[in-house]
Amino acid sequence: MLITPEPAARSSYRLSKSRYLSGLQCHKRLYLEIHAPALATKPDAATQAILNMGTDIGELARERFPGGRLVKAGYRQSQEALDQTAELLQDPTLPALFEAAFQFDQVLIRVDVLERVGVNELGQPTWRLVEVKSSTKLKATHLDDLTIQSYVLEGVGLALVDICLMHVNTQYVFDGRQLDLAQLFGLRSLNETVRPRLPEVPSRLAAMHTMLAEMSAPAIAPDEHCHSPYECPFWAHCTQEKPPRWIYHLPGSSKTVTLLRELGVETIDDIPDHVTLTPVQRRVKDNREWIGEGLRAALAKVRYPVHHLDFETFMPAVPKFIETRPYQVIPTQWSNHIEQSDGTLSHAEYLCQDGRDPREELTVSLLESLGQEGSICVYSSYERLILERLAEGFPSLRKDLKGVIARLWDLHVVIRDHYYHPDFDGSYSIKAVLPAVVPSLSYGDLAIRDGGVAACEYSRMIFTVSDWIEKAQIEEALLRYCERDTLAMVELRRELRKRAG
Ligand code: SF4
Repeated sequence: MLITPEPAARSSYRLSKSRYLSGLQCHKRLYLEIHAPALATKPDAATQAILNMGTDIGELARERFPGGRLVKAGYRQSQEALDQTAELLQDPTLPALFEAAFQFDQVLIRVDVLERVGVNELGQPTWRLVEVKSSTKLKATHLDDLTIQSYVLEGVGLALVDICLMHVNTQYVFDGRQLDLAQLFGLRSLNETVRPRLPEVPSRLAAMHTMLAEMSAPAIAPDEHCHSPYECPFWAHCTQEKPPRWIYHLPGSSKTVTLLRELGVETIDDIPDHVTLTPVQRRVKDNREWIGEGLRAALAKVRYPVHHLDFETFMPAVPKFIETRPYQVIPTQWSNHIEQSDGTLSHAEYLCQDGRDPREELTVSLLESLGQEGSICVYSSYERLILERLAEGFPSLRKDLKGVIARLWDLHVVIRDHYYHPDFDGSYSIKAVLPAVVPSLSYGDLAIRDGGVAACEYSRMIFTVSDWIEKAQIEEALLRYCERDTLAMVELRRELRKRAG
């Protein structure tokens, strides 16, 4: 694809920190971000919610630096931000600057926290760079992030004496009264790790600028690198001409795919017969409906009344309830479709609608709905995990919850081991399986169609939205989404029973 860069801008593009990181992931990504950003796929609601969470954490982290001052100019107001920063730097009484802007070697950065730590032997103020992340541990990309920021800060002449990452500490337990920010955030010095990386930056920047001045994007093939450390938004663009059965869609180990690509295999249909594949990969290659001999017997193992259970959960980065930790999984709702042996179907559901810790009330209502009899159909091991955690947290309900766990019956395992449909495209997720087996039922008509979005919307409904009409709309959307998950299991069992004869 030929893209003509703006003539006036061809020789000197200013990079931001995120664009530099994009360039480290893939030169083509950086090129497209600058010359053809419209080709990117917009972030979906779940991705956007994760980005928003990072912003919220960053704002909370500032409270660990009392007296610090925010550079208020927005991200698009670069010159204003640079001017405000220069002014604030002159004030020796300020202990920290938030979102301070600096530019060096055609790179513009905004620093989460720049903390004043003292004065050096030359009488210059000394500084600590603190990058705040909502993640729970150090990742390789954090080092690149800190490296480019340190490069710019030292480039403009700041005396940087420490380079730190501040991340969420999952060992912190909230006492239910006051957040202890010193415990919630872990501060880790990476000075010794980052400094040896600084000399690499000029050559990397030079390579990026040379590439950006080219008339067309570099010829880089889509691959594993497109998904790590970030999902590239140009994936759809870069793969648009790939065949539908492109070898990259073969499920399972990426090593097998890499090996096959090295052998020149372009599509799943071209895989030579002598190549050893897993049973699932073999079914994907065969590309036809497959009904295992054991399907009928596996489906017959359920005991009536059959309950169909699904939880929705959320994982607040900042704990909301007493004795919970950051990112602890909190179940917030359940749906149960109950099928009697004569086919009669009934439905029960629960959704916590206020800011209380929902777990105990949710558990009590669930135990009542599940009763003592019948199998409990789930799709994946997630429900078992939630029930086990509830049993740990509520000793008085443990015996009943253990009884529930003993009745679980996983439809996902049954389908994975005994059935395949070409429309699964190698995926056994319920979102892939349902439209293939029960085309009349899908998630397409729902306002919420994904568990990640459900979690974000729940959090928004409880802690952000004040308009009661909007709250009611979210509540309804959450209920219908969870209900669809359990109805999907009912219809999948029914349809598979027919197909198994
Ligand atoms: S999809 Fe992959 S190859 Fe294409 S720009 Fe993104 S990272 Fe590069």
